[in-house]
Amino acid sequence: MGAWLGAVLWLALDAWRAERLLQVLRNDAAGLPTRGPGVWGELAERIRKLLRDREQQTRQAEDRLQEFLAAIQASPNGVILLDEQGRIEWCNQTAAMQFGIDAERDLLQHLANLVRDPAFVAYLASWNYSRDVVIDASGPGHAHQRSHPVRLSVQVHPYAGNRRMLLTRDITALEQAEAMRRDFVANVSHEIRTPLTVLAGFVETLQNLPLDADERTRYLSLMSQQSHRMETLVNDLLTLSRLEGSASPSGNQWIRIRALMAQCEDEGRGLSGRLAPLGHRLSFTIDAESELSGAPTELQSAMSNLLSNAIRYTPGGGEVAVSWRVLPDGRGEYAVKDTGPGIAAEHIPRLTERFYRIDRSRSRETGGTGLGLAIVKHIAQRHGAELRIESTVGKGSRFALLFPAARVREARVLAK
Ligand code: ADP
Repeated sequence: MGAWLGAVLWLALDAWRAERLLQVLRNDAAGLPTRGPGVWGELAERIRKLLRDREQQTRQAEDRLQEFLAAIQASPNGVILLDEQGRIEWCNQTAAMQFGIDAERDLLQHLANLVRDPAFVAYLASWNYSRDVVIDASGPGHAHQRSHPVRLSVQVHPYAGNRRMLLTRDITALEQAEAMRRDFVANVSHEIRTPLTVLAGFVETLQNLPLDADERTRYLSLMSQQSHRMETLVNDLLTLSRLEGSASPSGNQWIRIRALMAQCEDEGRGLSGRLAPLGHRLSFTIDAESELSGAPTELQSAMSNLLSNAIRYTPGGGEVAVSWRVLPDGRGEYAVKDTGPGIAAEHIPRLTERFYRIDRSRSRETGGTGLGLAIVKHIAQRHGAELRIESTVGKGSRFALLFPAARVREARVLAK
């Protein structure tokens, strides 16, 4: 009887424990008892452990996902994920800015309703994504109107059936560089074609016309001028490409300003004598005996270029003053001041563009290639220097190169 009662009690207790476990499991398994007695206790413990492992795995997967999303956020390219219906599932900040959409508010909106560029809408609907489509990010239909147009290349990549990933790239700078390259090639061709046409004309004349000795000499001298012009142009082009393709000059080669100025003076007086029968009133002053660090040939070329421009654009009899001084903060200034025609303010920011000229004929007559100031600017940049241009129409101009203090030092006194 006692054993029978014991068995019944035990069964009842067992059933109660099973019911309690079931109750907890029905309740989302929150509050599973820690290791209790018997088989139910062990069962509870195992379930608890299993659940804990699962939770940890889920957390890890979640963390990984967040890391992936953070990586895509950091991308300079825009990324948008679309669901099967073309609704935005996720997009990074770059894409949101480029398209003027809100990464949170516009979630699950149809992208084609938000970006209304016709080319883009047609592209999205075409399901032919072998190429990209280029659109104007600031065009009509975009929420954010920007002050400058941004050009976007957008390419769709389908994945997982009918889902789509949009990748966008800001190609504004790329397109500008491409346009500059095209302009440059057109300019060079034009610059070379002109003397070449003249030269070809003279060759034909020499071939077909019986000319006397004087005429022949005159023609040959004109031909020589033209070929010289082409040579100067090619040399300037090569100088530019060398400057662009090489590393900046180191700071450990020092050149005396006096030596650079002496060379400028030689060249300047020669050029002035050739161009103007009257010559120019030239002056060269050095306020502080200094040395400059950098590439000697480049520094000479930049300084001579500024001086040659002043002489070439200032009519005979005018004044050109070349000077060197060290400013109180240690920077060195090389300046060329002339009493020439001066330059209107709107031209000044563009003077260092390749082939930008104000007075074409004056430039050509005096052997200009339109590349001089572009070369000067490059050399200045490579030496950490600044090119400053001040000018007043009718009064004259002042071109100055400001070298950083680190490249300027007092000249050592030469042994006598
Ligand atoms: P160029 O070979 O034609 O002289 P640069 O690049 O040296 O080319 O100069 C660009 C343009 O800047 C010149 O064509 C000229 O119109 C203008 N310019 C340069 N220096 C002076 C100056 N000292 N006075 C007036 N105009 C100048």
